[in-house]
Amino acid sequence: MRLPRRRFLAGSLAAGAIAGPAGIVRGQPLAFASDPFTLGVASGSPREDGVVLWTRLAPRPLEGGGMPDSPVAVDWQIAEDERFARVVGSGIAQASPELAHAVHVEAKGLRPGRHYWYRFRAGDASSPIGRTRTAPAAGSTPSQFRFAFASCQQYEQGYFSAYRDMAKRDLDLVVHLGDYIYEKTWGSQLVRQHGVGIPTTLPEFRDRYALYKLDPDLQAAHAAFPWLATWDDHEVADDYANDRSYTTRDPAQFMKMRAAAYQAYYEHLPLPASARPRGPFATIYERYRFGDMLDVMLLDDRQYRSASACVGGGRPGTVPDCPERTLEARTMLGMQQEQWLDRQLAATNARWTIVAQQTLMAELVRPKENERRFWLDGWDGYPNARRRLLESIATHKPRNPVVIGGDRHAFFVADLKRDFAQASEPVLASEFVGTSITSQGPSAASMEQALKFNPQLKYGRGDRRGYATVDLTAARCIVGFEAVDDVKQKDSAVHRLATFVVEDGVTGAKPA
Ligand code: FE
Ligand code: CA
Repeated sequence: MRLPRRRFLAGSLAAGAIAGPAGIVRGQPLAFASDPFTLGVASGSPREDGVVLWTRLAPRPLEGGGMPDSPVAVDWQIAEDERFARVVGSGIAQASPELAHAVHVEAKGLRPGRHYWYRFRAGDASSPIGRTRTAPAAGSTPSQFRFAFASCQQYEQGYFSAYRDMAKRDLDLVVHLGDYIYEKTWGSQLVRQHGVGIPTTLPEFRDRYALYKLDPDLQAAHAAFPWLATWDDHEVADDYANDRSYTTRDPAQFMKMRAAAYQAYYEHLPLPASARPRGPFATIYERYRFGDMLDVMLLDDRQYRSASACVGGGRPGTVPDCPERTLEARTMLGMQQEQWLDRQLAATNARWTIVAQQTLMAELVRPKENERRFWLDGWDGYPNARRRLLESIATHKPRNPVVIGGDRHAFFVADLKRDFAQASEPVLASEFVGTSITSQGPSAASMEQALKFNPQLKYGRGDRRGYATVDLTAARCIVGFEAVDDVKQKDSAVHRLATFVVEDGVTGAKPA
């Protein structure tokens, strides 16, 4: 859906000026030589009474933005209707050069479980109109809640047709599970180019986000729904872990780069103020509640994890098991987030508990001769952290736990257990991994081996790009794997590849 561009109604900005904070810079109306809203609009982090509204002023998006080195006032409005006849919130946000002239407005005082429309104006320029939706009220149970989850959108490897399809759907929410940008060029049959090398500085990361966000299909999906977003590795560097990176071996130098990367991520996504980075640190894990229907535990498994096991500072990859891998102290979430998640799992009473994290949580053994090999950048590199998380689910028994993930560039359905080697162990949660928006998947041989030796994997398809949809009612959770016909063709269609269902009170997915 391409939302129509409309002019602001005359007079509406006066109300905004009154609501503006003191000390804002408001000189002569700025006249832009070209459209500053090249990167579109977005909304995110929906609550029952508010939502974050985002845009960034960037008349020359691939050359650092093209804005003056001074703050600029941006008027915003949010309305109950797309004609903006019933404006329910407005104000002035300051777009500052420190944040690349991005704005993150926290619109408050909204009503739960309904659509809103929003837009921005800077000087003589108006933004496209975005549509968003607040979370259902606490204590209420909507008859239905629909969301999509997506990940892994290497720009050069394909077109974002998946997002064009997603934008046309009737969704309450989109969850992005990481690899929103890729720092590096890789893969075969590239259809477009980054045009520059690997970003390491803040201006370089900003230009990379701008390149991706210029894509009209990605803009359409942002303009149509509120998003929740967490990062994976490629927003910073391939397979990094906390302050360790095989590509930048000096931790101090890497943390400088991580600060730039986290900053650019914050600047380009509709994140709450609580997620704003302080140097190389940012708290992006959070719980989002959607009435009594679902709780989303949005996790960050990159920032706090232990260094990769068994590879001595090298690239994790798929390697033979070693004693370091199974050390109890190894952590994926960091102790603080792990304890936080345990408390949230104890507190939730939603019908569905969605644990939204980056990668495949189920074990995936790759036997070779007499060895057991594991891919150490995922949960298999942190088996005791995974066991603790699943024990937390076993202890607190949140109703209908469902884990969603990305990163593997393949569709997976899995049963999660404390001990995957024991056939008699109970299934504690159902897991679904969406494929990638564009990033190329594992080989047919690799998928065949994965399915052959891992009975906990109920389904796997690595040859298709796309995303997943989740349709929740009180009775069931229906997961659709939505696959792009050909990611190398512009405007390719999307078709449902497979459908799975989890019934209320029954752990484990079944083909629908
Ligand atoms: Fe990826
Ligand atoms: Ca990844």
